[in-house]
Amino acid sequence: MRKSALSALLLFSSLTPAFAADDALTPPDLTAKAIELLGQTIAIESVEGKGNVPAVANLIADELRKGGFAADDIVITPMGETATLIATYKGTGEKKPIILSGHMDVVGANPEDWTRDPFTMVQEDGFLFGRGTSDMKFGLVMMVETLIRLKEEGFKPDRDIILALSGDEETHMATTMALADELEGADIVLNADGGGGALDENGDPVAYYLQGAEKTYADYIVTFTNPGGHSSQPRKKNAIYDLAQAALNLSNYEFPVMWSDITLESFRQGGLNTEGEIGKAMRDFAENPKNKRAIKILSERPEYVGQLRTTCVATLLDAGHAPNALPQRAGMNVNCRIFPGVSPDAVKTTLTDVIDNPEATIELADEVHYADASPLRDDVVAAVRKAVDRRYPDLPIVPEMSAGASDSLHFRAHGIDSYGVSGIFMKPTDMYAHGLNERVPVAAVDGALDHWHTLLTDLATGE
Ligand SMILES: [Zn+2]
Repeated sequence: MRKSALSALLLFSSLTPAFAADDALTPPDLTAKAIELLGQTIAIESVEGKGNVPAVANLIADELRKGGFAADDIVITPMGETATLIATYKGTGEKKPIILSGHMDVVGANPEDWTRDPFTMVQEDGFLFGRGTSDMKFGLVMMVETLIRLKEEGFKPDRDIILALSGDEETHMATTMALADELEGADIVLNADGGGGALDENGDPVAYYLQGAEKTYADYIVTFTNPGGHSSQPRKKNAIYDLAQAALNLSNYEFPVMWSDITLESFRQGGLNTEGEIGKAMRDFAENPKNKRAIKILSERPEYVGQLRTTCVATLLDAGHAPNALPQRAGMNVNCRIFPGVSPDAVKTTLTDVIDNPEATIELADEVHYADASPLRDDVVAAVRKAVDRRYPDLPIVPEMSAGASDSLHFRAHGIDSYGVSGIFMKPTDMYAHGLNERVPVAAVDGALDHWHTLLTDLATGE
């Protein structure tokens, strides 16, 4: 049964007393308001092709105006069926701006497949269900309500705080590129669509992950062509054999080991919490990233190999055209996750050397943007430390290089240090971003609002 938006909202209001607990970090009425706005954003199906992103932008703009933003400080720019929103919280201009980055679009969801209507937020079993709750309307709403809270408190930042919302992060990122162009020269990007805290199965905190780097996603198409002919008259030269050899060469190749401040610190901290041989290898690698034994052990683990180097792997094959014909064409897709700072062209050169057959053509499937890792800045780490300590004192803060790309990629490519600093804490087993029955814990709202409030009051007022 589908619940109406109204009955969902009534459910939230009946929840309000839970937030009034003595240990609440955020005024309970603000927490309730954030949940209400989250429900309103979820109700707008801002999926590619539906043309609904501008409606999300208008909703956010209304909320900001009601919360004290001047109409002139909010700019919505249509781009085809989607849009960007830039809202500026004016500061004294002593320092360069902070950008709060988020996206208004969501991945598609088929209501037939969901237990609940994906576009009606429902509160059940301590969770808020709906497409886009975790990716990333939750984070977006936390940033919006925090800016409104700061206005109400009369906060005067020493720099502009610019809310920059993209409208096609899940697909083309054209709006992200436009935002990154327009906002060039900013000091820091804080992205709500990365990082965040992990809880164990008992709900106890494990660590907070601060995302400061992303690997570059790139698909290369490797193709061999051949005049072909009748299969009763085979020749030595065969496109499938050439491709098979190319695939074998690739499987035997390892890209060189690389590291950054982020991966070394991530291994160091991971090593402290990991038992046995693996934990030792992580600590040893952090100590000396040329340690051959550590590299060998970590390279054998699928969950760590991507943190050590660029990886490229054959993922799709497409060869031949008839059972009784010599193949005229054989191709494979090679999916690469490129270490930050390495260009896709350099990877293509490596693939060419590894495949080592002048008859191979190797092409990127799509245009690829790439960026270097952001440095582990003291001011950002200190602000995150302060924010995390308010909920979980002394919880480890682990820097993270993620395998996929968010809006931060394009800001990093414009030279702006960018960090995934989501305020959410949840169990990895509750993560359903992009999947069915996407959800966030209701209990995370209070702490997440406090998290953004602490980050901004710390980073925007300086020493
Ligand atoms: Zn996202």
